[in-house]
Amino acid sequence: MFVCMCVCVLFGVCVCAFMWQALMQVHDSVAVQEKEEENVTQYVGETVKLVRLEKTRDTPLGATVRNDMDSVVVSRVVKGGAAERSGLLSEGDEILEINSVPVRGKHVNEVHDLLQQMHGTLTFLLIPSSQIKPAPHRQTVMHVRAYFDYDPSDDPFVPCRELGLSFQKGDILHVISQDDPSWWQAYRDGDEDNQPLAGLVPGKSFQQQRETLKKTITDRSREPQGKLWSAKKGKKQRKKSVSTFSKTTDLDDTLTYEEMSLYHQPANRKRPIALIGPTNSGHDELRRRLLSIEPEKFAVAVPHTTRNPRIHERNGREYNFVSRPGFESDMSAGKFIESGEYEKNLYGTSTDSVRHIINSGRICLLCLHTRSLRVLRSSNLKPYVIFIAPPSQERLRTLLASEGKTPKPEELKEVIEKAREMEQNFGHFFDATIVNTDPSQVFHELRRLIEKLDTEPQWVPTSWLC
Ligand code: 5GP
Repeated sequence: MFVCMCVCVLFGVCVCAFMWQALMQVHDSVAVQEKEEENVTQYVGETVKLVRLEKTRDTPLGATVRNDMDSVVVSRVVKGGAAERSGLLSEGDEILEINSVPVRGKHVNEVHDLLQQMHGTLTFLLIPSSQIKPAPHRQTVMHVRAYFDYDPSDDPFVPCRELGLSFQKGDILHVISQDDPSWWQAYRDGDEDNQPLAGLVPGKSFQQQRETLKKTITDRSREPQGKLWSAKKGKKQRKKSVSTFSKTTDLDDTLTYEEMSLYHQPANRKRPIALIGPTNSGHDELRRRLLSIEPEKFAVAVPHTTRNPRIHERNGREYNFVSRPGFESDMSAGKFIESGEYEKNLYGTSTDSVRHIINSGRICLLCLHTRSLRVLRSSNLKPYVIFIAPPSQERLRTLLASEGKTPKPEELKEVIEKAREMEQNFGHFFDATIVNTDPSQVFHELRRLIEKLDTEPQWVPTSWLC
Protein backbone atom coordinates (compact mmCIF):
# COMPACT_ATOMS: atom_id res chain seq x y z
CA MET A 1 0.00 0.00 0.00
CA PHE A 2 2.78 2.35 0.98
CA VAL A 3 4.67 1.68 -2.22
CA CYS A 4 1.56 2.12 -4.27
CA MET A 5 0.80 5.54 -2.77
CA CYS A 6 4.33 6.73 -3.26
CA VAL A 7 4.16 5.79 -6.86
CA CYS A 8 0.98 7.74 -7.41
CA VAL A 9 2.30 10.81 -5.70
CA LEU A 10 5.51 10.64 -7.59
CA PHE A 11 4.21 9.97 -11.02
CA GLY A 12 0.52 10.64 -11.24
CA VAL A 13 0.96 14.28 -12.22
CA CYS A 14 3.75 14.00 -14.73
CA VAL A 15 3.11 13.92 -18.42
CA CYS A 16 5.02 14.04 -21.62
CA ALA A 17 5.92 17.36 -23.07
CA PHE A 18 4.99 16.46 -26.58
CA MET A 19 6.47 16.11 -29.97
CA TRP A 20 8.27 19.34 -30.64
CA GLN A 21 11.29 20.04 -32.68
CA ALA A 22 14.09 22.59 -32.58
CA LEU A 23 13.68 25.41 -30.24
CA MET A 24 14.51 28.35 -32.43
CA GLN A 25 15.34 31.36 -30.40
CA VAL A 26 14.81 33.11 -27.11
CA HIS A 27 14.15 36.75 -26.47
CA ASP A 28 16.18 38.28 -23.72
CA SER A 29 14.55 38.46 -20.36
CA VAL A 30 11.72 40.90 -20.69
CA ALA A 31 11.17 43.65 -18.21
CA VAL A 32 7.92 43.88 -16.36
CA GLN A 33 6.90 47.07 -18.18
CA GLU A 34 7.31 45.42 -21.51
CA LYS A 35 5.15 42.53 -20.37
CA GLU A 36 2.48 44.97 -19.26
CA GLU A 37 2.36 46.27 -22.83
CA GLU A 38 1.77 42.69 -23.89
CA ASN A 39 -1.12 42.53 -21.46
CA VAL A 40 0.38 40.00 -19.11
CA THR A 41 0.09 42.11 -16.00
CA GLN A 42 -0.54 39.06 -13.88
CA TYR A 43 3.19 38.33 -14.06
CA VAL A 44 4.21 41.70 -12.59
CA GLY A 45 7.25 41.29 -10.41
CA GLU A 46 8.49 38.21 -12.23
CA THR A 47 11.40 38.06 -14.65
CA VAL A 48 10.06 36.29 -17.68
CA LYS A 49 11.49 35.14 -20.97
CA LEU A 50 10.10 34.31 -24.37
CA VAL A 51 11.20 31.18 -26.14
CA ARG A 52 10.26 30.34 -29.73
CA LEU A 53 10.32 26.85 -31.13
CA GLU A 54 9.13 24.94 -34.14
CA LYS A 55 6.89 22.03 -33.44
CA THR A 56 6.91 18.98 -35.68
CA ARG A 57 5.22 15.67 -35.22
CA ASP A 58 8.24 13.44 -35.72
CA THR A 59 10.88 14.37 -33.20
CA PRO A 60 10.24 14.50 -29.48
CA LEU A 61 11.32 17.68 -27.78
CA GLY A 62 12.81 15.59 -25.02
CA ALA A 63 11.24 17.25 -22.00
CA THR A 64 8.52 16.50 -19.48
CA VAL A 65 6.39 18.81 -17.36
CA ARG A 66 4.74 18.47 -13.97
CA ASN A 67 2.27 20.40 -11.89
CA ASP A 68 3.67 22.25 -8.92
CA MET A 69 0.55 23.54 -7.16
CA ASP A 70 -0.99 25.77 -9.85
CA SER A 71 2.13 26.00 -11.95
CA VAL A 72 3.22 23.97 -14.95
CA VAL A 73 6.93 23.36 -14.56
CA VAL A 74 9.53 21.73 -16.82
CA SER A 75 10.43 18.64 -14.81
CA ARG A 76 13.06 17.06 -17.00
CA VAL A 77 15.12 17.87 -20.06
CA VAL A 78 16.32 14.69 -21.68
CA LYS A 79 19.89 14.41 -22.93
CA GLY A 80 20.20 14.55 -26.70
CA GLY A 81 16.72 15.97 -27.35
CA ALA A 82 15.96 19.26 -29.14
CA ALA A 83 15.26 21.02 -25.82
CA GLU A 84 18.61 20.05 -24.40
CA ARG A 85 20.49 20.86 -27.60
CA SER A 86 18.94 24.32 -27.81
CA GLY A 87 19.97 25.08 -24.24
CA LEU A 88 16.86 27.27 -23.90
CA LEU A 89 14.64 25.17 -21.68
CA SER A 90 15.76 24.17 -18.22
CA GLU A 91 14.41 21.98 -15.47
CA GLY A 92 12.41 24.12 -13.09
CA ASP A 93 11.33 26.72 -15.70
CA GLU A 94 7.68 27.58 -15.19
CA ILE A 95 5.61 27.76 -18.38
CA LEU A 96 3.20 30.68 -18.13
CA GLU A 97 1.78 30.80 -21.64
CA ILE A 98 1.98 28.95 -24.89
CA ASN A 99 1.02 31.07 -27.90
CA SER A 100 -0.59 33.53 -25.49
CA VAL A 101 -2.79 30.85 -23.90
CA PRO A 102 -2.23 30.97 -20.12
CA VAL A 103 -1.42 27.58 -18.64
CA ARG A 104 -1.12 28.39 -14.94
CA GLY A 105 -3.84 26.47 -13.14
CA LYS A 106 -4.09 23.89 -15.89
CA HIS A 107 -3.49 20.21 -15.25
CA VAL A 108 -0.55 18.80 -17.21
CA ASN A 109 -2.98 16.63 -19.17
CA GLU A 110 -4.75 19.78 -20.38
CA VAL A 111 -1.42 21.29 -21.37
CA HIS A 112 -0.65 18.13 -23.26
CA ASP A 113 -3.98 18.31 -25.13
CA LEU A 114 -3.45 22.00 -25.84
CA LEU A 115 -0.06 21.36 -27.37
CA GLN A 116 -1.29 18.52 -29.47
CA GLN A 117 -3.52 20.96 -31.30
CA MET A 118 -0.70 23.46 -31.93
CA HIS A 119 1.71 23.35 -34.86
CA GLY A 120 4.37 25.54 -36.42
CA THR A 121 6.12 28.21 -34.39
CA LEU A 122 5.17 28.14 -30.73
CA THR A 123 5.96 30.96 -28.36
CA PHE A 124 6.50 30.11 -24.72
CA LEU A 125 6.41 32.63 -21.95
CA LEU A 126 8.50 31.28 -19.09
CA ILE A 127 9.70 32.17 -15.65
CA PRO A 128 13.25 30.84 -15.70
CA SER A 129 14.15 28.42 -12.98
CA SER A 130 15.20 30.39 -9.91
CA GLN A 131 17.47 27.56 -8.88
CA ILE A 132 21.12 28.39 -9.00
CA LYS A 133 22.39 25.95 -11.53
CA PRO A 134 25.57 24.11 -10.64
CA ALA A 135 28.48 24.74 -12.94
CA PRO A 136 28.20 22.44 -15.93
CA HIS A 137 30.17 19.28 -15.34
CA ARG A 138 30.65 16.10 -17.22
CA GLN A 139 28.15 13.57 -15.96
CA THR A 140 29.77 10.33 -15.03
CA VAL A 141 28.22 7.50 -16.99
CA MET A 142 27.27 4.36 -15.13
CA HIS A 143 26.99 1.13 -17.09
CA VAL A 144 24.50 -1.45 -15.91
CA ARG A 145 23.20 -4.79 -17.03
CA ALA A 146 19.41 -4.98 -16.78
CA TYR A 147 17.95 -8.03 -15.10
CA PHE A 148 14.39 -7.45 -16.25
CA ASP A 149 12.55 -6.69 -19.47
CA TYR A 150 11.14 -3.20 -19.75
CA ASP A 151 8.48 -1.92 -22.12
CA PRO A 152 7.44 1.71 -21.51
CA SER A 153 4.25 1.23 -23.53
CA ASP A 154 3.17 -1.16 -20.81
CA ASP A 155 4.14 1.05 -17.87
CA PRO A 156 1.47 3.31 -16.35
CA PHE A 157 4.07 5.16 -14.30
CA VAL A 158 6.57 6.28 -16.92
CA PRO A 159 6.47 10.08 -17.00
CA CYS A 160 6.41 10.05 -20.80
CA ARG A 161 5.82 6.96 -22.92
CA GLU A 162 7.47 8.45 -26.02
CA LEU A 163 10.62 9.08 -24.00
CA GLY A 164 10.69 5.64 -22.38
CA LEU A 165 13.49 3.29 -23.46
CA SER A 166 12.57 -0.34 -23.92
CA PHE A 167 15.15 -3.00 -23.14
CA GLN A 168 15.48 -6.69 -22.48
CA LYS A 169 16.92 -8.73 -19.68
CA GLY A 170 20.68 -8.88 -20.16
CA ASP A 171 20.98 -5.62 -22.13
CA ILE A 172 23.76 -3.24 -21.17
CA LEU A 173 22.56 0.31 -20.52
CA HIS A 174 24.69 3.44 -20.33
CA VAL A 175 23.04 5.54 -17.63
CA ILE A 176 23.93 9.14 -18.28
CA SER A 177 21.76 10.82 -15.65
CA GLN A 178 20.41 9.80 -12.27
CA ASP A 179 19.31 13.33 -11.35
CA ASP A 180 15.83 11.94 -10.88
CA PRO A 181 16.41 8.78 -8.82
CA SER A 182 13.12 7.29 -10.03
CA TRP A 183 13.70 7.82 -13.74
CA TRP A 184 17.20 7.54 -15.05
CA GLN A 185 18.24 8.66 -18.52
CA ALA A 186 20.03 6.02 -20.52
CA TYR A 187 21.12 4.65 -23.89
CA ARG A 188 21.20 0.98 -24.82
CA ASP A 189 24.70 -0.27 -25.53
CA GLY A 190 25.31 0.13 -29.26
CA ASP A 191 22.39 2.56 -29.76
CA GLU A 192 24.11 5.75 -28.69
CA ASP A 193 25.36 6.67 -32.18
CA ASN A 194 22.07 6.07 -34.02
CA GLN A 195 19.81 7.38 -31.29
CA PRO A 196 20.84 10.85 -30.10
CA LEU A 197 17.96 11.12 -27.63
CA ALA A 198 18.45 9.35 -24.31
CA GLY A 199 15.48 7.41 -22.97
CA LEU A 200 13.87 7.13 -19.56
CA VAL A 201 14.30 3.90 -17.63
CA PRO A 202 13.09 3.10 -14.11
CA GLY A 203 15.70 3.93 -11.46
CA LYS A 204 17.03 1.08 -9.36
CA SER A 205 15.14 1.81 -6.13
CA PHE A 206 11.90 2.50 -7.97
CA GLN A 207 12.17 -0.77 -9.88
CA GLN A 208 13.04 -2.65 -6.70
CA GLN A 209 9.92 -1.26 -5.02
CA ARG A 210 7.86 -2.29 -8.01
CA GLU A 211 9.31 -5.83 -8.12
CA THR A 212 8.83 -6.21 -4.37
CA LEU A 213 5.22 -5.14 -4.68
CA LYS A 214 4.66 -7.52 -7.62
CA LYS A 215 6.15 -10.44 -5.68
CA THR A 216 4.14 -9.63 -2.56
CA ILE A 217 0.95 -9.63 -4.61
CA THR A 218 1.93 -12.93 -6.29
CA ASP A 219 2.78 -14.52 -2.91
CA ARG A 220 -0.48 -13.32 -1.40
CA SER A 221 -2.48 -14.71 -4.30
CA ARG A 222 -0.81 -18.09 -3.67
CA GLU A 223 -1.75 -18.13 0.00
CA PRO A 224 -4.55 -20.56 0.82
CA GLN A 225 -8.00 -19.01 1.19
CA GLY A 226 -10.31 -19.59 4.16
CA LYS A 227 -10.12 -18.77 7.85
CA LEU A 228 -10.69 -21.99 9.75
CA TRP A 229 -7.41 -23.42 10.95
CA SER A 230 -7.26 -26.48 13.16
CA ALA A 231 -4.44 -26.86 15.71
CA LYS A 232 -2.53 -28.93 13.15
CA LYS A 233 -2.99 -26.33 10.48
CA GLY A 234 -1.71 -23.76 12.94
CA LYS A 235 1.56 -25.65 12.99
CA LYS A 236 1.66 -25.71 9.25
CA GLN A 237 0.97 -22.03 9.23
CA ARG A 238 3.93 -21.38 11.50
CA LYS A 239 6.12 -23.43 9.21
CA LYS A 240 4.87 -21.47 6.28
CA SER A 241 5.72 -18.17 7.88
CA VAL A 242 9.33 -19.34 8.09
CA SER A 243 9.46 -19.87 4.36
CA THR A 244 7.73 -16.53 3.78
CA PHE A 245 10.46 -14.93 5.86
CA SER A 246 13.14 -16.40 3.67
CA LYS A 247 11.26 -15.15 0.62
CA THR A 248 11.21 -11.64 2.08
CA THR A 249 14.97 -11.85 2.46
CA ASP A 250 15.22 -12.78 -1.21
CA LEU A 251 13.15 -9.78 -2.13
CA ASP A 252 15.56 -7.45 -0.42
CA ASP A 253 18.17 -8.31 -2.97
CA THR A 254 15.82 -8.29 -5.91
CA LEU A 255 18.07 -8.01 -8.91
CA THR A 256 17.19 -5.06 -11.08
CA TYR A 257 20.44 -3.68 -12.44
CA GLU A 258 24.04 -4.64 -11.85
CA GLU A 259 26.82 -2.16 -12.39
CA MET A 260 29.19 -3.31 -15.14
CA SER A 261 32.67 -2.36 -16.34
CA LEU A 262 34.74 -3.29 -19.34
CA TYR A 263 37.36 -5.92 -18.63
CA HIS A 264 40.13 -7.10 -20.94
CA GLN A 265 41.57 -10.41 -19.79
CA PRO A 266 45.34 -10.41 -19.28
CA ALA A 267 47.28 -12.68 -21.64
CA ASN A 268 48.49 -14.85 -18.75
CA ARG A 269 45.18 -15.12 -16.88
CA LYS A 270 42.45 -16.37 -19.19
CA ARG A 271 38.84 -16.35 -18.13
CA PRO A 272 37.30 -19.79 -17.62
CA ILE A 273 34.67 -20.70 -20.19
CA ALA A 274 31.47 -22.10 -18.72
CA LEU A 275 29.41 -24.03 -21.23
CA ILE A 276 25.81 -24.26 -20.17
CA GLY A 277 22.97 -26.18 -21.73
CA PRO A 278 20.53 -29.01 -21.20
CA THR A 279 21.73 -32.61 -21.58
CA ASN A 280 22.05 -33.42 -25.28
CA SER A 281 22.44 -29.79 -26.34
CA GLY A 282 26.02 -30.65 -27.33
CA HIS A 283 28.08 -28.69 -24.79
CA ASP A 284 29.93 -31.77 -23.51
CA GLU A 285 30.93 -32.70 -27.04
CA LEU A 286 32.14 -29.15 -27.73
CA ARG A 287 34.32 -29.27 -24.63
CA ARG A 288 35.80 -32.61 -25.73
CA ARG A 289 36.61 -31.20 -29.20
CA LEU A 290 38.33 -28.13 -27.81
CA LEU A 291 40.41 -30.26 -25.46
CA SER A 292 41.46 -32.69 -28.16
CA ILE A 293 42.36 -30.04 -30.75
CA GLU A 294 44.37 -27.72 -28.47
CA PRO A 295 45.32 -29.58 -25.29
CA GLU A 296 48.05 -27.06 -24.49
CA LYS A 297 45.54 -24.21 -24.59
CA PHE A 298 42.51 -25.73 -22.86
CA ALA A 299 42.13 -27.84 -19.71
CA VAL A 300 39.48 -29.14 -17.36
CA ALA A 301 39.63 -28.73 -13.61
CA VAL A 302 40.58 -31.91 -11.72
CA PRO A 303 37.46 -32.84 -9.73
CA HIS A 304 37.33 -33.93 -6.08
CA THR A 305 35.82 -37.25 -5.06
CA THR A 306 35.32 -39.26 -1.89
CA ARG A 307 35.62 -42.61 -3.67
CA ASN A 308 38.77 -44.70 -3.44
CA PRO A 309 41.36 -44.39 -6.21
CA ARG A 310 41.43 -47.14 -8.82
CA ILE A 311 44.66 -48.94 -9.54
CA HIS A 312 45.82 -46.71 -12.42
CA GLU A 313 44.59 -43.44 -10.89
CA ARG A 314 46.89 -40.87 -9.31
CA ASN A 315 45.84 -38.28 -6.78
CA GLY A 316 45.63 -34.88 -8.48
CA ARG A 317 45.50 -36.33 -12.00
CA GLU A 318 42.13 -38.04 -12.49
CA TYR A 319 40.72 -36.80 -9.21
CA ASN A 320 41.67 -35.14 -5.95
CA PHE A 321 40.84 -37.99 -3.57
CA VAL A 322 39.51 -36.67 -0.28
CA SER A 323 37.67 -37.98 2.77
CA ARG A 324 33.95 -37.50 3.06
CA PRO A 325 34.21 -35.19 6.12
CA GLY A 326 36.87 -33.16 4.29
CA PHE A 327 34.64 -32.88 1.20
CA GLU A 328 31.63 -31.93 3.30
CA SER A 329 33.42 -29.24 5.25
CA ASP A 330 34.80 -27.72 1.99
CA MET A 331 31.33 -27.85 0.56
CA SER A 332 29.80 -25.98 3.47
CA ALA A 333 32.63 -23.44 3.22
CA GLY A 334 31.43 -22.76 -0.35
CA LYS A 335 34.59 -24.08 -1.98
CA PHE A 336 32.74 -26.05 -4.69
CA ILE A 337 31.26 -24.57 -7.82
CA GLU A 338 29.19 -27.72 -8.27
CA SER A 339 28.87 -31.10 -6.64
CA GLY A 340 26.85 -34.29 -6.82
CA GLU A 341 26.52 -37.80 -5.44
CA TYR A 342 27.00 -40.95 -7.47
CA GLU A 343 26.81 -44.45 -6.02
CA LYS A 344 27.24 -43.14 -2.48
CA ASN A 345 30.35 -41.13 -3.37
CA LEU A 346 30.59 -37.37 -3.57
CA TYR A 347 32.06 -35.61 -6.60
CA GLY A 348 32.60 -31.91 -7.21
CA THR A 349 34.60 -29.14 -8.89
CA SER A 350 36.31 -26.71 -6.56
CA THR A 351 37.11 -23.08 -7.23
CA ASP A 352 40.73 -23.85 -6.30
CA SER A 353 41.02 -26.45 -9.08
CA VAL A 354 39.76 -23.89 -11.60
CA ARG A 355 42.13 -21.27 -10.23
CA HIS A 356 44.99 -23.72 -10.61
CA ILE A 357 44.31 -23.89 -14.37
CA ILE A 358 43.96 -20.12 -14.67
CA ASN A 359 47.34 -19.71 -12.95
CA SER A 360 48.89 -22.13 -15.43
CA GLY A 361 47.92 -19.76 -18.29
CA ARG A 362 45.42 -22.18 -19.84
CA ILE A 363 41.70 -21.76 -20.43
CA CYS A 364 39.59 -23.79 -18.03
CA LEU A 365 36.56 -25.39 -19.69
CA LEU A 366 33.58 -26.05 -17.47
CA CYS A 367 30.32 -27.77 -18.32
CA LEU A 368 27.85 -26.63 -15.73
CA HIS A 369 24.26 -26.69 -14.69
CA THR A 370 22.57 -23.30 -14.39
CA ARG A 371 22.27 -23.77 -10.61
CA SER A 372 26.07 -23.39 -10.39
CA LEU A 373 26.02 -19.98 -12.00
CA ARG A 374 25.42 -17.95 -8.87
CA VAL A 375 28.34 -19.56 -7.00
CA LEU A 376 30.55 -19.29 -10.04
CA ARG A 377 29.77 -15.60 -10.49
CA SER A 378 30.60 -14.83 -6.86
CA SER A 379 33.84 -16.83 -6.96
CA ASN A 380 36.03 -14.12 -8.48
CA LEU A 381 37.01 -16.49 -11.29
CA LYS A 382 35.50 -14.09 -13.88
CA PRO A 383 33.82 -16.80 -15.95
CA TYR A 384 32.62 -16.20 -19.50
CA VAL A 385 29.30 -17.99 -19.78
CA ILE A 386 28.16 -19.43 -23.11
CA PHE A 387 24.75 -21.00 -23.47
CA ILE A 388 24.57 -23.82 -26.00
CA ALA A 389 20.94 -23.86 -27.11
CA PRO A 390 19.39 -26.81 -28.94
CA PRO A 391 18.10 -26.31 -32.50
CA SER A 392 14.57 -27.22 -33.63
CA GLN A 393 13.22 -30.59 -32.56
CA GLU A 394 13.68 -32.11 -36.04
CA ARG A 395 17.24 -30.82 -36.39
CA LEU A 396 18.10 -32.05 -32.91
CA ARG A 397 16.78 -35.52 -33.81
CA THR A 398 19.01 -35.58 -36.91
CA LEU A 399 22.09 -34.42 -34.96
CA LEU A 400 21.61 -37.01 -32.23
CA ALA A 401 20.99 -39.72 -34.83
CA SER A 402 24.37 -38.93 -36.38
CA GLU A 403 25.87 -39.74 -32.95
CA GLY A 404 24.00 -43.05 -32.93
CA LYS A 405 21.33 -41.86 -30.47
CA THR A 406 17.63 -42.47 -31.02
CA PRO A 407 15.74 -40.23 -28.63
CA LYS A 408 11.94 -40.40 -28.34
CA PRO A 409 9.98 -37.31 -29.48
CA GLU A 410 9.06 -36.51 -25.85
CA GLU A 411 12.77 -36.59 -24.91
CA LEU A 412 13.54 -34.11 -27.69
CA LYS A 413 10.71 -31.89 -26.51
CA GLU A 414 12.09 -32.05 -23.00
CA VAL A 415 15.54 -30.84 -24.14
CA ILE A 416 13.95 -27.87 -25.89
CA GLU A 417 11.64 -27.09 -22.96
CA LYS A 418 14.55 -27.32 -20.50
CA ALA A 419 16.60 -24.92 -22.64
CA ARG A 420 13.69 -22.47 -22.73
CA GLU A 421 13.41 -22.61 -18.94
CA MET A 422 17.17 -22.10 -18.52
CA GLU A 423 17.10 -19.07 -20.79
CA GLN A 424 14.12 -17.59 -19.03
CA ASN A 425 15.55 -17.99 -15.53
CA PHE A 426 19.25 -17.49 -16.17
CA GLY A 427 19.51 -15.84 -19.60
CA HIS A 428 20.69 -12.58 -18.03
CA PHE A 429 23.82 -14.37 -16.78
CA PHE A 430 24.80 -15.62 -20.24
CA ASP A 431 27.52 -13.66 -22.01
CA ALA A 432 26.70 -15.34 -25.31
CA THR A 433 24.30 -17.88 -26.78
CA ILE A 434 25.04 -20.26 -29.64
CA VAL A 435 22.29 -22.33 -31.23
CA ASN A 436 23.64 -25.79 -32.01
CA THR A 437 22.26 -26.19 -35.53
CA ASP A 438 25.40 -27.45 -37.18
CA PRO A 439 28.30 -28.98 -35.19
CA SER A 440 31.15 -27.50 -37.24
CA GLN A 441 29.54 -24.05 -37.37
CA VAL A 442 28.95 -24.09 -33.63
CA PHE A 443 32.52 -25.12 -32.98
CA HIS A 444 33.76 -22.31 -35.22
CA GLU A 445 31.55 -19.78 -33.45
CA LEU A 446 32.68 -21.02 -30.05
CA ARG A 447 36.34 -20.57 -30.95
CA ARG A 448 35.61 -17.11 -32.36
CA LEU A 449 33.99 -16.07 -29.07
CA ILE A 450 36.88 -17.46 -27.04
CA GLU A 451 39.42 -15.64 -29.22
CA LYS A 452 37.45 -12.40 -28.88
CA LEU A 453 38.24 -12.41 -25.17
CA ASP A 454 41.88 -11.79 -26.11
CA THR A 455 41.13 -9.01 -28.56
CA GLU A 456 38.16 -7.11 -27.12
CA PRO A 457 37.20 -6.01 -23.62
CA GLN A 458 33.95 -7.48 -22.30
CA TRP A 459 31.35 -6.25 -19.83
CA VAL A 460 31.72 -7.81 -16.39
CA PRO A 461 30.15 -6.89 -13.03
CA THR A 462 32.09 -3.99 -11.55
CA SER A 463 32.18 -5.90 -8.24
CA TRP A 464 34.49 -8.44 -9.93
CA LEU A 465 37.13 -5.77 -10.39
CA CYS A 466 37.15 -4.36 -6.88
P1 5GP B 1 33.90 -42.43 -11.81
O1 5GP B 1 33.83 -42.68 -10.34
O2 5GP B 1 33.54 -43.66 -12.61
O3 5GP B 1 35.18 -41.81 -12.23
O4 5GP B 1 32.73 -41.33 -12.14
C1 5GP B 1 31.40 -41.62 -11.88
C2 5GP B 1 30.54 -40.42 -12.18
O5 5GP B 1 30.85 -39.37 -11.30
C3 5GP B 1 30.71 -39.79 -13.53
O6 5GP B 1 30.04 -40.42 -14.55
C4 5GP B 1 30.15 -38.44 -13.29
O7 5GP B 1 28.74 -38.50 -13.50
C5 5GP B 1 30.41 -38.19 -11.84
N1 5GP B 1 31.45 -37.18 -11.75
C6 5GP B 1 32.75 -37.22 -12.08
N2 5GP B 1 33.35 -36.05 -11.85
C7 5GP B 1 32.40 -35.21 -11.37
C8 5GP B 1 32.39 -33.86 -10.94
O8 5GP B 1 33.38 -33.14 -10.96
N3 5GP B 1 31.21 -33.38 -10.51
C9 5GP B 1 30.08 -34.11 -10.47
N4 5GP B 1 28.96 -33.51 -10.05
N5 5GP B 1 30.06 -35.38 -10.87
C10 5GP B 1 31.20 -35.94 -11.30
